Amino acid sequence: MRFFRFSASQYHAPYAPKATRRKGKKGGRRGMSRTNKSGKQGGMDGLTALIRQLEQVKAQARRIGIFTDDRELLECPNCGLLEDVMADGLLVTYSRRSRSRKDCGLRFSQVDENCFQCPSCGTKVKAVIL
Ligand SMILES: [Zn+2]
Repeated sequence: MRFFRFSASQYHAPYAPKATRRKGKKGGRRGMSRTNKSGKQGGMDGLTALIRQLEQVKAQARRIGIFTDDRELLECPNCGLLEDVMADGLLVTYSRRSRSRKDCGLRFSQVDENCFQCPSCGTKVKAVIL
């Protein structure tokens, strides 16, 4: 039985649009305008929408097990269970004493904003939020 490995470089998009240059020089002189014409709030609304969208993407990533880098990785001071991130971005846990570093499938559960509970022994671990 043979296994075939595929790499991303083997796939080519059938059509890749050329990068287009943006015309005009926007935002070059912020705060210099004397009159505040209508539509100035549009920028903030757009930014708020983007931030909301980013949060949705992050939540989606977390659901499928990807570490989103908004806090430091946890390690239980009591039993030595620790978190690690694989090359593909997936969050895993294993014991500090484990030589294989194989994911044991347990996940720290969030208790409050910056406190997590060890799934193995129940110890509360304070997270450093980034
Ligand atoms: Zn523990």
